[in-house]
Parts: sequence; structure tokens; C-alpha cells
Amino acid sequence: MTIDAADLREMFDAIAVSIEADKDRLCQLDGVIGDADHGIAMALGFSAVRDALAPLDLATTEPTALLNTAAKSFLNAVGASSGPLYATAFMRAAAAVKGKAQLSDADVVALFQAMAQGIRDRGKAEIGEKTMIDAWLPAADAAGAAQAAGKTLSESLAAALAAAERGAQATKDMVAAKGRSSRLGERSLGHIDPGAASAVTVIDAMTRSLG
Ligand code: ADP
Ligand code: MG
Repeated sequence: MTIDAADLREMFDAIAVSIEADKDRLCQLDGVIGDADHGIAMALGFSAVRDALAPLDLATTEPTALLNTAAKSFLNAVGASSGPLYATAFMRAAAAVKGKAQLSDADVVALFQAMAQGIRDRGKAEIGEKTMIDAWLPAADAAGAAQAAGKTLSESLAAALAAAERGAQATKDMVAAKGRSSRLGERSLGHIDPGAASAVTVIDAMTRSLG
């Protein structure tokens, strides 16, 4: 089984549906330690991606071009800090599969890891700073480890999702050190980071769609 541009467009459609359904919860989480717009930002972004991908002729569009289109539309639609973070994730994903029309399991895991690395490079957050990185990095590591151990794509993504869920839960006990919520200092303790929560939703949709 390989993944092609049509599968990636379906994946983005699945993410858009999941994020839209999760919009209010994400705004509520952001309302506690941020400015209450995270659900709106993510929903706007993925709805723009869906609109941008819909007219693409998939017979002539390679995964790299599709992912770059996703990056550009997400960036243009989102003014919040999640805009450039996810745009960089999709741009790095595009670069990771350059020249390939069909993606193997290993290619998809490499794409996934490139997304996490892109967010890390763009935002410069480390583990423990209460950001989406606390979900994305352990998820990427878990996917890589599962792939290296000979697991299927479905198993590798399931491992990534479990790690992302653990990471997002762990942000509850962290003091925010990056982004808007870092202004709260100790008062950010006890609350899940909205970006880590939405990362779980994104990874869950990717896992169900590609796995
Ligand atoms: P804004 O803070 O501009 O309103 P959003 O509400 O869309 O943006 O996103 C907030 C989320 O962005 C945070 O919960 C956090 O997970 C993530 N974030 C903020 N800054 C960084 C960073 N430097 N690196 C990684 N993630 C970050
Ligand atoms: Mg916000």
C-alpha cells in the first residue's frame, strides 16, 4: 500500500472536519491561558487548505506540490502564531517527499517527522515549554521508533497518536515558556496547552485517514 496525492487531499479533508468539530473546545482551552482564538485559527487554516486543494488536478499534482499549496493557504489564512508553525510543517513535509508520486510507509513516517521538525525549527520551543511541540516531538519519535522496529504505517501512526496524547496531557503540569501564555508564568500551570490539544486532533485525523 502506498499513499498518493489523492490520499493526502483526503487526509487534509479529514483534518478539517475534525478541527471544525473541535473548534469550541480549542477556543475554550486558549481562553484560559491565551486569547481564545486557537480553535478559530486552526479551523480557518484547515478550511482554507481544503478550499485550495479541492480544485487541484490530482492526475498531474505530486504530493510535494499539494503540500506546498497547503502550506501557502494555511499561512495566508491564519494570523495567529499557529499559522507560520503549521505552514512550516507542511513546507518541510513537501520537501521530505520531493520527486515522489507514491509514498511508502517509510516516506509517510519521514513526512510526519519533517512536520514536527519544521514546527520545532520555526518556533524554537523545547520539550517542557508547554507548546504543541510537547505533543508533536514525542509523536514523531514514536512513529520513527515504530517504523524502525518494522511496524506497519497504521501501527506507527497509532504509536504517534498515543505519544501525542500523553504529551498533551503532560502540558498540564508545565509552566508556559513560549508564546502568548508564557506571560502568565506560574498561572499557566494546571491547564492543557491548546496547541498541544489541537496537535492530538490533527494527528488523530491523520492516523485514521492514512493508517
Ligand atoms: P496565538 O498565541 O498567536 O493566539 P494560537 O492561539 O493559534 O496563536 O496558538 C497558540 C498555540 O501556539 C499555543 O498553545 C502553543 O501550543 C503554540 N505555540 C506558541 N508559540 C510557539 C512556539 N514558539 N513554538 C511552538 N508552538 C508554539
Ligand atoms: Mg490564541
